[in-house]
This record gives sequence, C-alpha cells and structure tokens, in this order.
Amino acid sequence: MSENKGVPEKRARIVTEPGSLAATGGTVSEDVDADRFDRQKRVTQWDQAAIGKQDVLVIGAGALGNEVCKLLFQLGVGRVRVVDFDAVIEANLNRCVFFTPQDAKEKALKADVIARKARQEYPHTHVTADCRKVEDLEEHVFQKSTAVFGCLDNLGARLHVNAQSYGHAPVFDGGTTGFYGKLQVVSAPSSCIECAMSERDYDLLWKRYSCVGEAIDLIDPKAPALATTTSVVAALQVNEFIKHALGQPGIAGKYVHYDGLTHETQAFDVPKRKTCPVHG
Ligand SMILES: [Zn+2]
Repeated sequence: MSENKGVPEKRARIVTEPGSLAATGGTVSEDVDADRFDRQKRVTQWDQAAIGKQDVLVIGAGALGNEVCKLLFQLGVGRVRVVDFDAVIEANLNRCVFFTPQDAKEKALKADVIARKARQEYPHTHVTADCRKVEDLEEHVFQKSTAVFGCLDNLGARLHVNAQSYGHAPVFDGGTTGFYGKLQVVSAPSSCIECAMSERDYDLLWKRYSCVGEAIDLIDPKAPALATTTSVVAALQVNEFIKHALGQPGIAGKYVHYDGLTHETQAFDVPKRKTCPVHG
C-alpha cells in the first residue's frame, strides 16, 4: 500500500521545526513529491548541499560496504569511491543488497557491481569502482576524501586505513560478528584505532581476526554474519557521517559496542595513547 494514498499530488509548503530548511528560507520544491531528498530536507538543520559536496571513500564492498553505500546513495552524497579487489560469491547474497546470483555466477568484482547499480538507480552520486587492495591505494586518495568508511573484515587493513586517514579525513569504522557489532569514530586529534591496541593484539596480528577484532577459530575462518547486525552497524556508521557532514558534534574517540541479543549499546572512551605510532 502506498504511504501517499489519499494525499494530494501538490502539497502546500510545510514549515517544520525552527531552524529547518523551510523555516530558514531555503528552497523547497513546489512539487515536493518529485524531490528525491524532500523528506530528509525536513530534518532540522539539514543541509543537502553539504551532503552533496561529500567525497567519500568506502573501503570494503562486503556486507557492511553494501549497506553503507546504499545509505550514502540514498542520502545523495556527491562522490563515492568503493574499494574492494574481491569477486561476488553466492555466500554474499544473504546480506549484500546490491549483489545477485548472476553477479556470483559471473564472478563479478564487488566494487564494479556496486558502481554499476548506482549508475542505474542513484544518479545524484558519482561512484568510482577501485578494484585494488587498500594497501595499494595512493596517499592522495585518502587525503582528498572528506570521510572514510572502514567496512573491513581484518585488522591489518583496518590499521592501514586508520594510519593513512588520520589527520586528513574522519574514519567511521564498523565491524560485525553474529549478533554483535562495533563502531569506532576517529577524527584527529582524537584517539585512533591503533591507540586501542594492546601488546597482545600486536602479537596476534598475524592471525586471522573476526570483524570485531577478536581472534577467531582458525579451523573455521568464515566469520558468522547476519544481515540484521550489518544493517544496524552500517546505520550507526552513516549516522555519524551525517553529523560530521552537517557540522554537528560527533563521537570521535569513542568505541561503540552493539549487542543484538540484549539491545544494549555502550559507548566507551578510547584513551589517546602517547606511544601510538600513528600520531605519537
Ligand atoms: Zn592512535
């Protein structure tokens, strides 16, 4: 059933909360239903132009990368570069909104698929597929970005993204395993992902890690993954990005843990480590 049933095609201009676009004299389309972004423009202190100017790097086009990209495209972010060297497999399809069985059959590259779908459905976003390992990206790719999303499944790549981005762009780093998820926001001069690493973490770096940074059973390297947890964590990541883009206070320096079994979400301060190699 359409949510607009019974509502006239042309609506009168609606003045919403003080400080909203309408109240501050911003331009509101006469035919608001024809404006893809109309409903989000009604959010207090929304600035669609600020969202449109964003030039975002999404590292990892797996489950989290799919969800993060979907939200960025829906918001109307101007430019998105999707980085992933991997190809689509059937086991991705339980939680990756852009992938189809045909993509898995063709072994299509994940970043290419997302860029192709975006061109078809989201004309407000210019999407670039970058089918390289994150370690192969040039420094300027990080430096020119206005925000970086970590949508990765291993700690080594996460630390690389953290080090390359620090001081240039905020990092919204997500991870999931089963019903559990994490979000860490890094924005200089805040603490960073490496600040939170212990000696034991360094010792274990050579091992495989789960998405939330804990060592997993090496006999079964396939981390448990649920579409529901993925959606929650991606939403947390992009929500923090929205606040950053709109110039609102965020949670830089914090680590958020989400527990899908109890629905408890806790935010912890990550102390800035003086000996951290990223910022000294
Ligand atoms: Zn640090």
